Amino acid sequence: MAKPIVAIIGRPNVGKSTLFNKLAGRRIAIVEDTPGVTRDRLYCEVEWLNHKFTLIDTGGIEMETEDVILKQMRRQAEIAIETADVILFMVDGKTGITADDYEVANMLRRTHKPIVLAVNKIDNIEMEANKYDFYNLGLGEPITISAALGLGLGDMLDEIVKHFKTVSDDEEESPEIKVAIIGRPNAGKSTLLNRIVGEERSIVSDIPGTTRDAIDSYVEIGEDKFLFIDTAGIRRKSKVKEEVEKYSVLRTIAAIERADVCLVMIDAQEGVTEQDERIAGYAHEAGKGVIIVVNKWDVIEKDDKTMNEFTKNIRNDLAFLDYAPIIFISAKTGQRVNKMIELIKYVANQHAIRIKTGVLNEVISEAVMMKQPPIEKGKPLKIYYVTQASTKPPTFVFFVNDPEVVHFSYERYLENQLRQHFGLQGTPIRFIYRSKQ
Ligand code: GDP
Ligand code: GDP
Repeated sequence: MAKPIVAIIGRPNVGKSTLFNKLAGRRIAIVEDTPGVTRDRLYCEVEWLNHKFTLIDTGGIEMETEDVILKQMRRQAEIAIETADVILFMVDGKTGITADDYEVANMLRRTHKPIVLAVNKIDNIEMEANKYDFYNLGLGEPITISAALGLGLGDMLDEIVKHFKTVSDDEEESPEIKVAIIGRPNAGKSTLLNRIVGEERSIVSDIPGTTRDAIDSYVEIGEDKFLFIDTAGIRRKSKVKEEVEKYSVLRTIAAIERADVCLVMIDAQEGVTEQDERIAGYAHEAGKGVIIVVNKWDVIEKDDKTMNEFTKNIRNDLAFLDYAPIIFISAKTGQRVNKMIELIKYVANQHAIRIKTGVLNEVISEAVMMKQPPIEKGKPLKIYYVTQASTKPPTFVFFVNDPEVVHFSYERYLENQLRQHFGLQGTPIRFIYRSKQ
């Protein structure tokens, strides 16, 4: 299921970071130690009443200092309009409306994206009346919040998630495999996309009914339908390298969220760089199917050992993606591109796999018999029952005597056992533990 994206925009000092930090409190802990996964302030995962979404802070994109605030806000708004499903426009209830707020509201009103207007710094009931002024922005009902005190956040989140339904319903019904080609600039993403799209005489267009501004490529290959999500298409002109980079991170994250399978593209001439690690980390964290695509294989001088050497280095540098298959291609000559398409299908299936409870429990109890859990905190782990709770990625709920006594290395062991029996290649899998009395 595609996780919706919510973008916060607003003038400096209205309280965006404060809100961000309040909402980002609950980070998924499993990948905390994953190398290559960095926590920048640009985005976080938020969960509210069974809805999960990605919150991005466009204000995290710093601009040139001589940029006036208005110019910055215009940029933020553009980025939000381009990448988000819902835009959270934050204003300052203490200072009241400014000319810049009006300007941005004008821009926002012209988009078809849902907008939630949050009036921040309403720290007490007496200040509540400050909100009336903001009706003048023409963006509907202002919601009063205090990010600092945590007031009104529930109502605001209710309003945000209200806009999700239609978006995710549309996407869930679509039969195509959604693929994001991600990687550093110049890795060869556009070349690959052009090759796939060109060769297969596909229809390249905006998909009707989607709310995206980005141009996705819809491709039919034989019986199969693919949607290649644009990440490289629109290039932002900016003199500031950092700005371009952060912007491309946001686009990458937005593409990953919508994808079933991510092709992490590595330039064979460069090898795995830190930026590659980071990009791969986003895909891993998002729980998507992943294929490591080593491109420009045509320019590498090779003998019979080259591929193994590359594989070894990649496994070392991207150790957290040990489940992801590696394929060596040339987007330029088309070498193994067809094979890669087959691999995408395979990984998409693995990512969506449903394992019957009976078989699952057989495999787990056999695994436990072969190797007993270590005694942790003076208590042995007892696994009573396992069931698959969801797919994309496959998520398994273990009912155990005490979730606290599950040891990391044992979890690893069980994961390997599942992979040995069921394949699950290319997909991360998740374990959840519940205690059963
Ligand atoms: P940003 O530039 O939009 O990210 O704004 P910050 O989150 O850095 O906040 C700017 C200032 O406003 C800081 O001094 C915050 O402490 C303050 N602030 C943020 N939220 C609130 C609030 O709800 N009430 C009050 N009174 N101050 C707030
Ligand atoms: P993007 O920034 O990731 O979209 O990368 P591009 O598709 O624009 O490619 C960057 C450069 O690498 C271009 O000059 C391409 O012609 C070149 N390139 C892309 N794929 C290959 C490949 O498989 N082999 C070779 N030799 N060059 C490639």
